[in-house]
Amino acid sequence: MPELPEVEMVRRYLERTVLGKIIRMAEVRDDRILHAVSPPDLKEAVAGRVFRSVRRHGKWLFLELNEDLWLALHLGMTGDPVFLNQGEEPPHHTRLLISFTDGSSLAYSDTRIFGEIGLATGPGVFIRERRIGPDALDLDLPGFLELMRNRRGAIKSMLLNQHLLAGVGNLYADEALFLAGIRPDSRNLDDRRLKKLLASVQRVLRASISCQADLHRLPDGYLLHHRHPGGRCPLDGTILERATIAGRTTYYCPKHQQL
Ligand SMILES: [Zn+2]
Repeated sequence: MPELPEVEMVRRYLERTVLGKIIRMAEVRDDRILHAVSPPDLKEAVAGRVFRSVRRHGKWLFLELNEDLWLALHLGMTGDPVFLNQGEEPPHHTRLLISFTDGSSLAYSDTRIFGEIGLATGPGVFIRERRIGPDALDLDLPGFLELMRNRRGAIKSMLLNQHLLAGVGNLYADEALFLAGIRPDSRNLDDRRLKKLLASVQRVLRASISCQADLHRLPDGYLLHHRHPGGRCPLDGTILERATIAGRTTYYCPKHQQL
């Protein structure tokens, strides 16, 4: 499933490929991908317009068509925008195909259709309406402390809650808690540990972005290379614990990660 770093890679890819191109038409090949907009309305909204900018907030992408008209895109589990030069065939699971006047096009392929495309009057309005929390990379310490204040749940559940904090998925939550030395089922963390946690969240997200979201390129000291039954902590050699927290498979080191 694409997480924040992968979505940031897609944002940069769209920025490199489709900005400034004039849209000739949109072809909706599967309307299950659309949210709260009909195929004719989507076609009419984009035809003749230009993608002016691409923004990311958490795992959402926003393509600007006009100051108050944006395409909102969530990749779900298998969403994949693919830029095609003239004459190139769209992928098999293309759900939406946007053609440009220069002959190139943008295919949105999505095998499992957990992704979503809709229209928004602006990223800010959309984020408020959907009650999406602040982006994990934009958030500063006072904002993070405020969000976490008076919350009772396990810290990992809070990190995964997109209404609190947008963009942290299962792998990165485990990785950040591992780096910060905090057990994922900890509750009521003090400000000192929350500060360490925010720094760790942002550090692992940035490290992944700097590796083009290719997780295999992260150093061996990362938990993700060891998260399998019998795997050992790369810091102290302890056998990792496996648990289910917030409904998700969780790995942590019972030695250096503390409640
Ligand atoms: Zn350890």
